[in-house]
Amino acid sequence: MSHQQKVVERTRKAFHTGRTKPLEYRITQLKNLQRLFVEKRKEIADALKKDLNKSEFGIPLFETLGLEGEINLAVSKLAEWAAPRPVTKNLMTISDQVYIQPEPLGVVLVIGAWNYPWAVTIQPLIGAITAGNAVVIKPSEVCVHTSKVMEDLLPLYLDKEMYPVVTGGVPETQELLKQRFDHIFYTGNCMVGKVIMEAAAKHLTPVTLELGGKSPCYIDKSCDLTIACRRIAWGKYTNCGQTCIAPDYILCDPSIQDRVIEEIKKNVKDFYTEDPKTCPDYGRIINTRHFKRVMALMEDSTVAVGGETDESECYIAPTVLRDVKPEAKVMQEEIFGPLLPILSVGSVDEAIEFINQREKPLALYIFSSDNKLIKRMISETSSGGVLANDCLVHFSVTSLPFGGVGNSGMGCYHGKFTFDQLSHQRGCLIKQLKMEGVNKMRYPPHTAKKLDW
Ligand code: NAD
Repeated sequence: MSHQQKVVERTRKAFHTGRTKPLEYRITQLKNLQRLFVEKRKEIADALKKDLNKSEFGIPLFETLGLEGEINLAVSKLAEWAAPRPVTKNLMTISDQVYIQPEPLGVVLVIGAWNYPWAVTIQPLIGAITAGNAVVIKPSEVCVHTSKVMEDLLPLYLDKEMYPVVTGGVPETQELLKQRFDHIFYTGNCMVGKVIMEAAAKHLTPVTLELGGKSPCYIDKSCDLTIACRRIAWGKYTNCGQTCIAPDYILCDPSIQDRVIEEIKKNVKDFYTEDPKTCPDYGRIINTRHFKRVMALMEDSTVAVGGETDESECYIAPTVLRDVKPEAKVMQEEIFGPLLPILSVGSVDEAIEFINQREKPLALYIFSSDNKLIKRMISETSSGGVLANDCLVHFSVTSLPFGGVGNSGMGCYHGKFTFDQLSHQRGCLIKQLKMEGVNKMRYPPHTAKKLDW
């Protein structure tokens, strides 16, 4: 029996003890997790610095503060979310109890990605704990140091029989995927998303797939370019462009391209100085494999800003590419790095057509001061989420579902959406063994006399 099989069997046994059913147990686990973020701040920060050169300020902002907010919300709302919800009755059930009872699914597998390793691994875990599930946690092996910190620290704070951490790379994950789970929550790229779904299908296990793709950013020429470009530069170059909802490319009228380039250049300097390589707020590409991948995407495009690189540090400067054609290499896959291509579109109609000809993205960004234009773009396109006049921040609104559509994923989470996603919504009808008279008509024989009734 493989290690992974043993872990899953142990976790299932723990789930069957029923320990996760009382809400107090779940709240204790969530509060313990909260304590981990406070007490092990330094260990978390050191590992993220080594993995991605994440800055001291960026870690709470992009990794842990959101998690603490999710825990606070879950602790305060759990009783309400987990309570039976009475629903509308019909004539036949007027005197019965009719309600929806959320119940735990069982053993959930959470597979995380490396770019915001705490946010994307622990946020689903929080929802899974809140919903009363047992969870096998599989951090990404690509963020070597953070994966180790998770493996070491999580068992010190959580019930380790109920929430074990399994580390390893592709072979270990594939062995894990042979096991039967009650739900798989995967964050990562689309190709592997298909591998996950295929493995899940063998056990009829439902999946949530939080994938990526190319998120377009349309800039309407009427908008305030100074503010728009500052927000776009922030959204693109945060975490060195390795953000699932980073604006992947810009679509704009050719007449504003030069100003867009100038404004982004100015903001890069304001944010990261003349030499971003020495700036503690500017990240690094996760490893040499990804460095080479991103470098290759630049080959057939014209650099307008940045372009400097240093393989020994996996450093790629914040870069803007101008006059990019749809056939260019950089437009063939999700960039996931600090390259910002600008493509020309002559009108909003052309921008809408360009977006609709491609896979449905995870995010769509629209910069415009024309509310009608914004609403039109929303109504004539599709994407996981849409944000007008800013970047990334829709991720932090826990009352909005976060997730993809089509190629960018399936299912959604954050706040109550995670609780619902990882619960079974059980329909319950409790009747009485009385008033049998009203049932007479449904029992055979279906005689003419009964039909007259
Ligand atoms: P990754 O390489 O860390 O892979 C993610 C997980 O999949 C890891 O735990 C890894 O062990 C496992 N894995 C990799 N290959 C596998 C295989 N062949 N079989 C089974 N398991 C395998 O992460 P990544 O895919 O490079 O992450 C980046 C991608 O994730 C981007 O496309 C990004 O847009 C997307 N992403 C999406 C979100 C979101 O919320 N939608 C968040 C972060 C990242």
